[in-house]
Amino acid sequence: MSGAVVSAGGRLEMMLGDLRLPTIKRLAADVCAQSDREGWPGHRLLEALLEHELAEREARRIDRHRHESGLSPDKRLSSFDFAAVPSVSKAQVTALAEATEWIERGANVLLFGPPGVGKSHLVCALGHALIDAGRRVLFTRCSDLVQRLQAARRDLRLPQELAKLDRFDLLILDDLSYVRRDQSETSVLFELIAERYEHKSLAITANTPFSQWGDVFVEPAMTLAAVDRLVHHATILEMNVESYRRRAAQQGLAPAARKTR
Ligand code: ADP
Ligand code: MG
Repeated sequence: MSGAVVSAGGRLEMMLGDLRLPTIKRLAADVCAQSDREGWPGHRLLEALLEHELAEREARRIDRHRHESGLSPDKRLSSFDFAAVPSVSKAQVTALAEATEWIERGANVLLFGPPGVGKSHLVCALGHALIDAGRRVLFTRCSDLVQRLQAARRDLRLPQELAKLDRFDLLILDDLSYVRRDQSETSVLFELIAERYEHKSLAITANTPFSQWGDVFVEPAMTLAAVDRLVHHATILEMNVESYRRRAAQQGLAPAARKTR
C-alpha cells in the first residue's frame, strides 16, 4: 500500500481531518496509488475522491433521517402483500413512493380501515421510500403528538414546536381516531393541520371514516374545516378488508402474531 507516501508526515491526514473529509481520509492512500499506477490526470483524481466523499455523506444523511423518523425498520413496500388489499392499487402506491411531486405541493395521504389491515405498515413503507429519496419523515402516534403540542402550548412555545415539525417533508399521524376527545387537545391538532395546509404533507391513518371525526374534533365547524383542508389535495386509500393479522393467524402463517404471543 502507498499509505506511507500519501500520509508523509501525517500532514494530509491532519488537513483532511480538519476539513471533515473522513471518506477521503480513509480512501486517499488507495485511490492515489491507483491514480499513480494508471497515470490519471489531476482532475480525475480529485473528482474520484470527492465523489466518494459526497456518496458517503449522502448515505450518512439518509441513515440519520431514518434514525430520527421513528419508522419501524421492517415495514417496507417489499414486505407488503398487495393481494391482501384489493382496494389499494400497487401502481398508485408505487407512484406515491417514487414520484415525490405530491410532497412538493404539500399534498396528503389518508388511509382508512379497521384495525389490523396494514394501514400503519403501508404508511411506514411510504415513509421509508421518501427517506430513500432524500426526504425527511416523522412517524408519530397522533395522540402522542397531540400531547406534545398541548404541552408546548401550555408553555407558550406552540409556534416553535410547529416550526420544528415544519422541517419534516412528511409528518405521519398514526391512529387519529385514538386521540382523546378533549377540546384543547383537538384544537392543537387543528392548528397543526391548518399550519401544514398546502405547504407540508401529512399522512394520517384512521379506523373511523370522516363521518365520525366529529368525535375527535368535538366542534362540528372545526371538524369540517379540518377535513376540508386535509382532503383538498389528498390521496385516499380505503382498506376495508379483514384484519391481515387475524387472517394470517387463521392460516397459521403469522410470524408477527407468533412473536407477540
Ligand atoms: P393497522 O395499522 O391497519 O392496524 P398494521 O399495519 O399494524 O395494521 O398491520 C398489522 C400487522 O399485519 C403488521 O405486523 C403488518 O406488518 C401486517 N400486515 C398487515 N397487512 C399486511 C399486508 N397487506 N402485507 C404484509 N403484512 C401486513
Ligand atoms: Mg396501525
